[in-house]
Amino acid sequence: MKRVNSRLGLLYLVSGPAGSGKTTLCRRLAADSEAIYATSATTRAPRAGEKDGEDYFFMTKETFLEHIHNSSFLEHAEVHGNYYGTLKSEVLEHLESGKDVVMDIDVQGAATVRDCADPLLQASILDLFVMPPSEEELYSRLVGRGTDSGETISLRMNNALEEMKRCDEYTYCLVSGSKEDDYEQFLSLLKGQRLRRALLSL
Ligand code: 5GP
Repeated sequence: MKRVNSRLGLLYLVSGPAGSGKTTLCRRLAADSEAIYATSATTRAPRAGEKDGEDYFFMTKETFLEHIHNSSFLEHAEVHGNYYGTLKSEVLEHLESGKDVVMDIDVQGAATVRDCADPLLQASILDLFVMPPSEEELYSRLVGRGTDSGETISLRMNNALEEMKRCDEYTYCLVSGSKEDDYEQFLSLLKGQRLRRALLSL
């Protein structure tokens, strides 16, 4: 009989274009629960107000490449012209100790994690794509953030359209509405997944 260890944490892979609201969902979950937010490393420059070690581990390209060389990353990818990656240390020990981990990653990173042969990861993954309600709404959210230049917004908009084509690689797709509705649905999905895991392990 197939048994899944109920004490193993769940790994939430959350993707969606910039402006879809996925980071808000992931951060809120980590603030409201015991789930750990896997802080990513990046070579992009910090935005105003972003803190090293909290929002990201901000790194030079050299340091990032050194981590790749040392196999320290669970996954890494080039997104919007910068490198992003999740350090294994942000994920594996937490899952092993039974804690849930939430990863806010792009479609390439999610594909890498899904392809990992590690049975610990395979038994833990719940993957969700957060889809903006429309292209117009996405554009106005990107402009409304007021954090990026016009050039960066166009790059992010183009990347968004490409990412959205890959939503069917995900088990679940949440079409973003209001922040509250999105969060309610996200929590319900996670609750269902935990219950499923608990029942499977009986
Ligand atoms: P931003 O620069 O707006 O914070 O993030 C840009 C994109 O990079 C987002 O789509 C985000 O999901 C993705 N991203 C953030 N961290 C990681 C990571 O660790 N790995 C991968 N593959 N993508 C990431």
